[in-house]
Amino acid sequence: MINYIKILELLNKTKWWIVLLLFLGFVINIFSSEIKRILDIKLLNNDIVVNSLDNDILIENALYELMKETKADRAYIFRFHNGVTYYTGSHKSKMSCDYEVVEKGISSEAQRLQDIPTGLFANWIKRVIQYKMFVINIKDIEDLRTRANLEAQGIIGIAVLPYYRNGKILALIGVDFVRPLSKEAKEKYNNESFIEINLFKKKLIKIMREIKYIVIHCTASQPNATKQAILNYWKDVLKWKSVGYHRLIDANGIIHELANYEQITNGVKGFNSTSIHFSYIGGIDAKGNPKDTRTPKQKESLLYLIKQAKKQFPNAIVQGHKDFGVKKACPSFEAKQEYKNI
Ligand SMILES: [Zn+2]
Repeated sequence: MINYIKILELLNKTKWWIVLLLFLGFVINIFSSEIKRILDIKLLNNDIVVNSLDNDILIENALYELMKETKADRAYIFRFHNGVTYYTGSHKSKMSCDYEVVEKGISSEAQRLQDIPTGLFANWIKRVIQYKMFVINIKDIEDLRTRANLEAQGIIGIAVLPYYRNGKILALIGVDFVRPLSKEAKEKYNNESFIEINLFKKKLIKIMREIKYIVIHCTASQPNATKQAILNYWKDVLKWKSVGYHRLIDANGIIHELANYEQITNGVKGFNSTSIHFSYIGGIDAKGNPKDTRTPKQKESLLYLIKQAKKQFPNAIVQGHKDFGVKKACPSFEAKQEYKNI
């Protein structure tokens, strides 16, 4: 039996929608020229699509440069994003190839590589995260599925890096070698199984973030504090998700690498996205007052790090943590003054 009352209810509801729509249409008609004018101004000044296009072109240009400089045949960025939620409540992550540039005559794979469940490439992603996806000969990859997937794209060599922000992995950026390596490229990569990782990393940082500051810190702990104790303090006491500095120098001058430069660390609030941070262990006297406790070896290592970083980021300003206008003594000496001529 047909439920007329129900139908009537539905019609009534629909009618209200139509009335509402008509009313809106009326308003829009009256003000349409005004609305158009506002939209035009907005579009010109602050359009999300246009803005993101500019950004996209910058990224594409950077990828193209990366491809040329690494003498690769493809360069690309995969970004991770939400998939669906399973009935069990667990979440499915996916990734898509959002940017890709290819050399002449090389197939584009990006359109095929959309909305891929990370589970299908779990091994590949894992190796990327471990900084192990630098393979000159695909046949060296033991995981058969990963190898088959790459071979299906004609890849014979590959280099991919993870991109982190605030301790979260957001994207993967990589290059593929499809054609046999040229003599020039082989020389460049000196026939080892890893491509020239430093060049690649530099390019990656250029794409991913701009370094404006090289910041000098002290740990404000006793000079004999261990790296592990400092790491534990950040993680367990301060509940930080990322480390405080990129490099940590102990009393013997040994440089500990805590993060890659493309990663953002927790050195100076408000400036971390454009900074890299170096710290020496120490910086206080036995009573806990600020004191320059740098050993000669620490000074030597710090100088070395700054010089290297300046070569990589020539426009970056070298200064101490306290030079950011904060109420801190860190790094317990005048870093800006000491390193002004580097
Ligand atoms: Zn500091």
